[in-house]
Amino acid sequence: MKMPALDTFDEWTPEEIPTGFVANAGTADQYVTGGWRSMRPVWFKDNCVSCMMCFLACPDSSIEVEDGKMVGIDYDHCKGCGVCVHECRFKALDFIREEEVVHEEEEEIASVIEKAKEA
Ligand code: SF4
Ligand code: SF4
Repeated sequence: MKMPALDTFDEWTPEEIPTGFVANAGTADQYVTGGWRSMRPVWFKDNCVSCMMCFLACPDSSIEVEDGKMVGIDYDHCKGCGVCVHECRFKALDFIREEEVVHEEEEEIASVIEKAKEA
């Protein structure tokens, strides 16, 4: 199949788009791509020694770093692959189901509503 000129890709028909083609590479950070994660890495700051093994291993650049130290996890882009949890030797990362997070958030919201009713 002959590929149309790259600078005209905005005008391509679906039939003209080659399989696996990426028109604008390197734009993933502009979108929330962690929404379909089923498992969530949880960071225990007190155990973390900022060895950066998780940072090196993360395929989605979702380990947040400031001044050479880990400061958190970017859940907007983390896909929940678990590689960081596997690589951490300091028990500073664990892996939980996203359902547990939702359940905890629901309980927190219910507790806030109850307190507001009592006030
Ligand atoms: S691998 Fe573990 S100890 Fe090292 S930076 Fe990541 S969370 Fe911290
Ligand atoms: S679970 Fe995977 S994508 Fe998420 S922070 Fe860890 S290594 Fe990165």
